[in-house]
Amino acid sequence: MLNRPALFDVIEQQIAACIGTGGSFAVLMLRAHGLREIALRFGYSQAEHAGEIVQELIGMSLRPIDCVFQIGDDSYAVVLPDMLGRNHGLLAAARLSQAFEQPLVGMEAPWQLRISMGIAIYPEHGQDAELLCRRAGMALDEAQRRREPCVIYQPDETQVEVFYEELREAIEANHLQVFFQPVHDLLSKRMVAVESLARWTSPRHGEVSPARFVPFSEQSDLISALTRWSINATLRHAAPLCATGELSFAINLSPRAFSRPGMVEQLKGALDVWGVEPTAIIAEVTETALANDLESGVQVLGQLRDMGVRISIDDFGTGYASISYLHRFPATELKIDQSLVGSMQDDPHTSRLVGAIINMARHLDLATVAEGIENQVTQDRLTDMGCTYGQGFHLGRPEPAANFASRFLAGHAQR
Ligand code: C2E
Ligand code: MG
Ligand code: MG
Repeated sequence: MLNRPALFDVIEQQIAACIGTGGSFAVLMLRAHGLREIALRFGYSQAEHAGEIVQELIGMSLRPIDCVFQIGDDSYAVVLPDMLGRNHGLLAAARLSQAFEQPLVGMEAPWQLRISMGIAIYPEHGQDAELLCRRAGMALDEAQRRREPCVIYQPDETQVEVFYEELREAIEANHLQVFFQPVHDLLSKRMVAVESLARWTSPRHGEVSPARFVPFSEQSDLISALTRWSINATLRHAAPLCATGELSFAINLSPRAFSRPGMVEQLKGALDVWGVEPTAIIAEVTETALANDLESGVQVLGQLRDMGVRISIDDFGTGYASISYLHRFPATELKIDQSLVGSMQDDPHTSRLVGAIINMARHLDLATVAEGIENQVTQDRLTDMGCTYGQGFHLGRPEPAANFASRFLAGHAQR
């Protein structure tokens, strides 16, 4: 098995050759998803054997001048010399994808792997071996995030080195903003809660959506800092509103933050500092988070529940949560994903599915929240179906928490 120093040597040789000729080459990082499962199910020697088959398959799909290195349990690096353009790289990726369309043979049982690839090209994406490898790795991460087979490094989008420092500074300097979006009781039509949503306007990248920077934080060590920020910033705005006793506050908690010790204590401490009752808090967790690490998830959520915090399963209906998971979770409500709610009006099948989720939740003693309500027809339909709460642009858009708070308090004083 070849290793990282050998890989770097080959890349440095390619760079030396290209400097003379003005040529170009690519570094392709490949991850074979499923190799780890082979080790867990069939043992390490089977996994090693499978690893060798994978390396062979990669070699067979490429030209004799291309070099393959195994650089981790399920990761490989390929150096592709003499690239005439990025299409050349994509062609290699297409051949590799094709090679993994069939299950791996030559083992105890055939086994289907899935591969993700990222490509960085010399000289445009890096002038040395380390940078080229890191950037091919970033492109690979991006491919996994987007669930695409292959991504070529794009300086603007995947320049996570810059992104990382900026986001870290923004969190530390409290430059992120909290927005509140109202949640209404559908029957009484009263606002009963707000969901706290983070916003980041970066001087360099402009408005960056949380759909982008939250997953990015989860993949780096920034998630702990982001969670701490999110809890404190939300409670700071929540504290003056709490006295009215009319509102609850939903905070999105990342699954990754769960696996760090001290999350429960941190929330407890913050509630003490801001004088907010735990019963006014709803912790939102996505169902994929639950599916990934059931045991520790159940434990942490159980502790939150014991404190009096309510637990909401976010984005329900799109991930992998099964009814048996739901049964084991100390959840108090299900939040039906906006992709389902959004297509209810045009698609009777989805509408029936949402109805079934609401019924099931009722039988499990769970409240339901429909997110992404964009029109009155959908809101009426959900109310008829017995959905407990609703959220969406039709009921109110997210707005800066400070604006929300002053309007709410002014309205309250007039009553
Ligand atoms: P989410 O928790 O499912 O939040 C709902 C998202 O739907 C929000 O997007 C909200 O702006 C959007 N939305 C609400 N009503 C409508 C509607 O009627 N139509 C449409 N099309 N969209 C609607 P946003 O703010 O971009 O947040 C995206 C995701 O990022 C959130 O999804 C949540 O998972 C995550 N997130 C946001 N803030 C935080 C945070 O402070 N911490 C953590 N860990 N995650 C956060
Ligand atoms: Mg949410
Ligand atoms: Mg959601």
